[in-house]
Amino acid sequence: GGSLPRPDQTRIMVVANQKGGVGKTTTTVNLAASLALHGARVLVIDLDPQGNASTALGIDHHAEVPSIYDVLVDSRPLSEVVQPVPDVEGLFCAPATIDLAGAEIELVSLVARESRLSRAIEAYEQPLDYIFVDCPPSLGLLTVNALVAGAEVVIPIQCEYYALEGLGQLLRNVELVRGHLNPDLRVSTILLTMYDGRTRLASQVAEEVRSHFGQEVLRTNIPRSVRISEAPSYGQTVLTYDPGSSGSLSYLEAAREIALRGAAPQQEQHSTVEGT
Ligand code: ADP
Ligand code: MG
Repeated sequence: GGSLPRPDQTRIMVVANQKGGVGKTTTTVNLAASLALHGARVLVIDLDPQGNASTALGIDHHAEVPSIYDVLVDSRPLSEVVQPVPDVEGLFCAPATIDLAGAEIELVSLVARESRLSRAIEAYEQPLDYIFVDCPPSLGLLTVNALVAGAEVVIPIQCEYYALEGLGQLLRNVELVRGHLNPDLRVSTILLTMYDGRTRLASQVAEEVRSHFGQEVLRTNIPRSVRISEAPSYGQTVLTYDPGSSGSLSYLEAAREIALRGAAPQQEQHSTVEGT
């Protein structure tokens, strides 16, 4: 790596889709690792109480570990919870512990409950090229905190039946947050995951997504790959687990597209999905 342009300012990428199992966490950790391997400094913020991103990055997140919960609920500085990711230079993680499951409720009564992540990121002084926020599969206050903190929403879409179902709700939430709390927010990146080029269904879904979203859809699709799904159980991303695999190469290529596009909007913008 090392040949990609680095952004002038930290790009904050919120990986969201309120459906579970569509590839949010897999996309978060593998895009983040790809960009780090290309020479960028990247922080992954795990905002899902399941802590899957922390696990996949080999980061300890048992109940006593300082975590993003402490940052959101107790105003602990982000710098006190960030850990370096073993084996990948330039990659860092703010882990999630199971405490975070309670934060959705605890945040309700706190001041500036929607902007606590945003404030923590603003106060973080280490230089970063990218921050990736891995969202839980819901549109509650944790995801709202991510949308207020971020500028770019990244939506992984699984190439299955009903791929677009429910996306309308996410897009409306993005509009609401843009209108009231964060005028900079936009959907910048759509990524097709678990793509099986041999099935007609996958290519039909891909076509449908491209016709709805146009420019935001990355040209690179992520294939369905056993190596991608095995890597987390070794506490690794596919980039270090099996660097030459198709899954690894596809994430590197997707990351390259993201870096080359930069933070500027693409020409066409579609922000609604009809009929969802
Ligand atoms: P989410 O974070 O949206 O719930 P995950 O990233 O955890 O989704 O992915 C759901 C499951 O699918 C996980 O078991 C993961 O390993 C697997 N998976 C994700 N992407 C791929 C892929 N490209 N090929 C094969 N399995 C995948
Ligand atoms: Mg997840």
